[in-house]
Amino acid sequence: MWKCGVCGYIHNGEEAPEKCPKCGAPKEKFVQLTEEQAALIVKSLRTNDLHMQFSHLMDKIAAICEEGIELNLDPGCVSLFKKGKEECGVLKNICKAEIATHVAKNKW
Ligand SMILES: [Zn+2]
Repeated sequence: MWKCGVCGYIHNGEEAPEKCPKCGAPKEKFVQLTEEQAALIVKSLRTNDLHMQFSHLMDKIAAICEEGIELNLDPGCVSLFKKGKEECGVLKNICKAEIATHVAKNKW
């Protein structure tokens, strides 16, 4: 695996790409990751995917809650949906912070 020294893009392959697909930096800007660094990235893939799925589901649940709030059937429903919407926002932000922590620790 190779990492762009300009933007941090990770490339999977025997050799660095001719230029970075993200920022356009030339091949020379890529550094090869150690086996340990590459193993950490491989180990982190599934968990980071789960975080992204989780975050996406929080958006869906928040949209469900929003509809429930608008329908306003009774105070119990509205209370639950408001709580749900708020919690989804918090959980999504925790999720994003967790992903940011992973990336900062090379759990890309
Ligand atoms: Zn780059």
